[in-house]
Amino acid sequence: MSVRREYDIAFVGLKPGVHEYTYMVGELFFESYPPQEFSEPNAKVRLLLEKSSTFMLLKFFVDGSVMSSCDRCGNPLKVDLWDEFEMLVKLVDDPERMNEEEEDPDVFYISRGESLLNVENWIYEFVTLSVPTHRICPEDEQGHSTCNQDVLKKISQLEQEKQETQNPLWKGLDKFRNL
Ligand SMILES: [Zn+2]
Repeated sequence: MSVRREYDIAFVGLKPGVHEYTYMVGELFFESYPPQEFSEPNAKVRLLLEKSSTFMLLKFFVDGSVMSSCDRCGNPLKVDLWDEFEMLVKLVDDPERMNEEEEDPDVFYISRGESLLNVENWIYEFVTLSVPTHRICPEDEQGHSTCNQDVLKKISQLEQEKQETQNPLWKGLDKFRNL
């Protein structure tokens, strides 16, 4: 968890209605978090904050890209980020208890006496969640995989060799089984 003041929103001074914020999320942003599965993050998070007297509705729009690698061949792969998330922030008297009891992950409570809302960890969470879990090299215009064919060949060769070395053992065991 990190709480940098530049991600504080002084909501008390805001008029009711929608307010817009933009955050550029690059490598520097991630320095206060554990190492990531991706590199060269280059994301933009647009936040629309709708303020009312008892709650704030936050809509996060994530856009941009990160560098990762292909699940199949391991080639470096640029992955586009494109996703939206919502948080409902309610102003209450006992936010700690309410947060403990709340089961909806998209609802968060803060004290009525609070004047600042820190959005840093949500930015972190939502950018990270925008990175697809399955990452495969795209197909070219002819519909052919752009995966590294040399690596794929090597992988299937290794698998074949593994099977071949395992087979005699299995045959040997079969013999015992028939006794
Ligand atoms: Zn690939």
